[in-house]
Amino acid sequence: MMKKIIQQLTNSSRVLLASHANPDGDAIGSLLALGIALERLGQAVTLYNESAIPAVYRFLPSVDRIQKQLADPERFDTAVMLDCGGLDRVGSAVEAIAAIPTIVNIDHHATNTRFGQYHLVDVDACATSEIVYRLIQSMGLEMNLAMATAIYTGILTDTGSFRFSNTNRAAFSICEAMVAVGVKPSTVAQHVYGTYSLGRIKLLNLALDSIEISHNGSLSIMTVTREMLSDTGTQPEDADGLINYARRIQDVKVAALIHELENGNGVSKRRKRFHVSLRSDGSVDVSRIASNFGGGGHTAAAGFSVESSLAELKKTIYNLSEGLGGKCHLN
Ligand code: AMP
Ligand code: MN
Ligand code: MN
Repeated sequence: MMKKIIQQLTNSSRVLLASHANPDGDAIGSLLALGIALERLGQAVTLYNESAIPAVYRFLPSVDRIQKQLADPERFDTAVMLDCGGLDRVGSAVEAIAAIPTIVNIDHHATNTRFGQYHLVDVDACATSEIVYRLIQSMGLEMNLAMATAIYTGILTDTGSFRFSNTNRAAFSICEAMVAVGVKPSTVAQHVYGTYSLGRIKLLNLALDSIEISHNGSLSIMTVTREMLSDTGTQPEDADGLINYARRIQDVKVAALIHELENGNGVSKRRKRFHVSLRSDGSVDVSRIASNFGGGGHTAAAGFSVESSLAELKKTIYNLSEGLGGKCHLN
């Protein structure tokens, strides 16, 4: 499949590369690495993501090549979708992209829908950046510092700095190879984890304060409202990673972060739009829970979006805790 995809990409005259909206380090890293690689092969490429690139990833080489607008989508003969479990994950451009003649689906989500004509889906890969690394290897292309930094950042962030259950041998061997090319781990870590705005730290305070625990102690809920963002002068991206605090509480098997979305008022005033991030300790498959709500993800990390009132949504999430058991019964 890899050879066929390389053939398709090198035979295309205009290639669009895109990754999921509200991108994380893997969505941005895999997009940049493959974009730079194809360009070095002489391809005309356009890099697209509908969201602003979070501040912590703006240090990545060539990050300015990523466009927020998709002009004349009909000029592309091939679209490569990166880190998207479903085509709709790309956001508002989904229909324009669906009309592109050939779609290549490169991803590692357990819930990948196998959209597109070519699939390079490996649910055992620690990150889409791992798959992109292998693709670049089979192109016979020499790794440069820009690609290496992008791949290293994708793997570092998707494995939670080599702590999450998707951390595999490839995570270490590829990152070692990227360091050999010249990536400085301390520099990447300083950008990604060590340069937070004061507002982000204040948001952390509010988010920690919002944590609630189910009666049996197996489920935690953290809430980030629009008000918290405006009070601290922060952006939705500043909530990235906060859920890990709710997850690491003793006896918690599943953590949920309820994130109120922008302009989220629904049909009635009480109903709003929320994104829910789910994390598990590995004993519960949260991608199945997320799928039941129309979302998806991996065993230990998944998400979905809903329209609801906050109280109703919390009740729905608390109901999940009943199936989880747990040892500390509070009443
Ligand atoms: P997050 O909700 O951003 O914490 O994402 C956790 C994991 O679930 C990531 O791998 C996402 O790509 C995936 N995910 C989040 N929301 C959705 C959704 N609505 N549909 C499919 N996958 C999702
Ligand atoms: Mn992602
Ligand atoms: Mn990923």
